[in-house]
Amino acid sequence: MAPGPYRRGGAQPGDWSGRVSPLPPNATIGIIGGGQLGRMSAMAAARLGFRCHVLTDALDSPAAQVAYGVTLGDFEDPATLRRFAEAVDVVTFEFENVSAAGLDLLASLRPVRPAPAILRISQDRVAEKSFLNRHGIRTAPWRAVDSEAELEAAVAELGLPAVLKTTRLGYDGKGQVLLTAAAETGAAFGRLTPKPLILEGFIDFAAEISVVVARGVGGEASAFDAVLNRHRDHILDLTLAPAPIDPDLAETARAIALEVAKHLDLVGVLAVEMFIDAEGRILVNELAPRPHNSGHWTLDACPASQFELHMRAVAGLTLPPASRHSDAVMKNLVGPAAMAQWPAILATPGLIPHLYGKTEARPGRKMGHVTRLFGKGALPGDMGIAAALAGLAEM
Ligand code: AMP
Repeated sequence: MAPGPYRRGGAQPGDWSGRVSPLPPNATIGIIGGGQLGRMSAMAAARLGFRCHVLTDALDSPAAQVAYGVTLGDFEDPATLRRFAEAVDVVTFEFENVSAAGLDLLASLRPVRPAPAILRISQDRVAEKSFLNRHGIRTAPWRAVDSEAELEAAVAELGLPAVLKTTRLGYDGKGQVLLTAAAETGAAFGRLTPKPLILEGFIDFAAEISVVVARGVGGEASAFDAVLNRHRDHILDLTLAPAPIDPDLAETARAIALEVAKHLDLVGVLAVEMFIDAEGRILVNELAPRPHNSGHWTLDACPASQFELHMRAVAGLTLPPASRHSDAVMKNLVGPAAMAQWPAILATPGLIPHLYGKTEARPGRKMGHVTRLFGKGALPGDMGIAAALAGLAEM
């Protein structure tokens, strides 16, 4: 069915270069990927009067459930990508493992925001760290590793412990091994796929923090406050906003995120994950050019969330500042144990529930999250947070 007079929004192949005018109401934003990040983006887009059209391989995926339109198919199939591009005015992604060739094809048909070149950098840890270091941004020491001999040389240079990772397709701790003894290197090299790999010096970090930064088509940028992230079984468990760290360090983290966004010429949002090392220095670990789990608190604690800022940037709209009206704790709901708590969560005043519409609660699967707000400046310590989460913190 024709979605209305604004369907094309004026964006025809080839005519958008340098086009910074905002998409009009009822224009269609195409989202590659059907997960919760796409779902929450589509919900934010709907509030701004946009329609979202999702490219996914499952009609029942979290984003497809709330989308105006869906293209079902394979992210790599050129005919599918063409059909998807036909149905939208602008393309973004919530899923990073789209091939470079696929993105190039899409970019020849519609504006892709953030640009494919940014995704290429974030898809490859070697490209990512090279980019960061080239701009004077500190990371863990690292070496590219293509062979067992290179791994041995890298271990000799960086020392142990060290973390061996795939350069591509890793997430939630998958695709990486902590090396503590030289005898483990051969087996670890054999086990990790796909190749090539990267060896990183082990950072005995004091904290893991992240900053979500948004940047518009005109280059205006704004960064949310730095937050503290705690993981459980390699999956994000809790986010504390703002991070209870030295305010100067938090400002430095925001400044780094803004700098990265500028150097990337970002349009959209980007999460910058960082370590604070034992000496109190900030090292960038990873870039994610999309809304991020550590930014979910912004839905409830900010006038405009990371999803709204993302959709605004993608649509070429002006960006409101990434400001915060409350302190917040976000707790991920992972797997069947968390889902067993859902009735109790709904019955607990003050817990703000978010569920992603996934039908099967497999172990390790992110099913939803809850947020608890506090007055600005009133984020409690660990015991207060545990009490505020009403037993969920122990899960
Ligand atoms: P990543 O996939 O790079 O985000 O890594 C997942 C998690 O592994 C991080 O959140 C850290 O807790 C840990 N990690 C990754 N790289 C390092 C490192 N070089 N040193 C210490 N811990 C690391």
